[in-house]
Amino acid sequence: MTKAVAAVLDGPREFTFRDFAIPRVGDDDAVVRVEASGLCGTDYEQYLGGLSFGDGMPIIPGHEVLGHVEAIGATAAKRWGVGVGDRITVEPIIPCGVCAGCVEGAFTRCRAGLGYGMYQGTGRQPSLWGGYATHVYLHSRALVHKLPADIPTDVMTLVNPLSNAIRWVHEVGGASLGSTVVIAGPGQRGLLAAAAAKKAGAAEIIVTGTSADHGRLELARALGATATIDVDSEGAVERVLEITNGSMADVVLDVSAGAMSPILDGIRMLRRGGRLVLAGLKSGKMLNDVPIDDVVLSEIELRGVVSGGYRSTELAIDMLRTDPEGLGALCSHTFRLDQVTTAVQTLGREINDGTDAVHITLTSELS
Ligand SMILES: [Zn+2]
Ligand SMILES: [Zn+2]
Repeated sequence: MTKAVAAVLDGPREFTFRDFAIPRVGDDDAVVRVEASGLCGTDYEQYLGGLSFGDGMPIIPGHEVLGHVEAIGATAAKRWGVGVGDRITVEPIIPCGVCAGCVEGAFTRCRAGLGYGMYQGTGRQPSLWGGYATHVYLHSRALVHKLPADIPTDVMTLVNPLSNAIRWVHEVGGASLGSTVVIAGPGQRGLLAAAAAKKAGAAEIIVTGTSADHGRLELARALGATATIDVDSEGAVERVLEITNGSMADVVLDVSAGAMSPILDGIRMLRRGGRLVLAGLKSGKMLNDVPIDDVVLSEIELRGVVSGGYRSTELAIDMLRTDPEGLGALCSHTFRLDQVTTAVQTLGREINDGTDAVHITLTSELS
């Protein structure tokens, strides 16, 4: 293959397939032959009208990329510890290394705005900055993880959402041996957070959802939830009180999209000194009725999180290596690159083929 092919998002809801030259690598960068990209809610938001950050369109989306190294410079190979043919994934953010966030070790707060799928448009050379393509360019500051060769493609694309889940529930949320954890929202990240909380040693893992989430709550129990709550038919706070014998939760993770009640309920579900981790975006909505006095008097911590981190990605790789079948239960759909519009519309529930879209993989195959 002498040219790369990419699905370029030219405007809202408008993909065009375009050829790009495959960049020649120097001493300190690399080119990856894409295997697949995982999709998450951000992909659908981007498809509808773009994101509030980055260059905007035209852009090659795909921020959860995995693939095999096709060409690599000597310095880059040494730094990343990978060579031609190795299977890798790359962190969505390319840290600048020198801003306050990077220097403090939190590259998720990097101010440079460089990365994969959501940042540089095709106008920035060498254009191949997203996973909806046959090839991706690896910038010298990209954060690369080597992956096991034998995990199936769709299961391996769980690495990014699982990294998020591990960081949110364990690294930031503090779920560990004996913890009581409540997870609001049985989406891809919520379900993986249940698995991560179990791995971390949490004693009680309670996942909440709506009556439409029946199948997902069942999946949550299979992945490690000790109890599930259907908030449409049960009082969520009362159930947590009952399950914990009044001791309440150490950590509540909100991964629900758009809903506000999990935040208000979350505050009431926590023990004194408990932590509410906010990871679900609310489409710009504001929240009234926050019981601030309860937050103050009970010393509740509120903490927002975005994305995973380097260590959580390494932990995610390890979890996928240990239990590919169990975690693979989330993988509901796989599409080829030429089916990108169907893939993204299935993600956004515009298309329903009868199978609940929990985790979608987009391979780089062209029919
Ligand atoms: Zn994502
Ligand atoms: Zn930075």
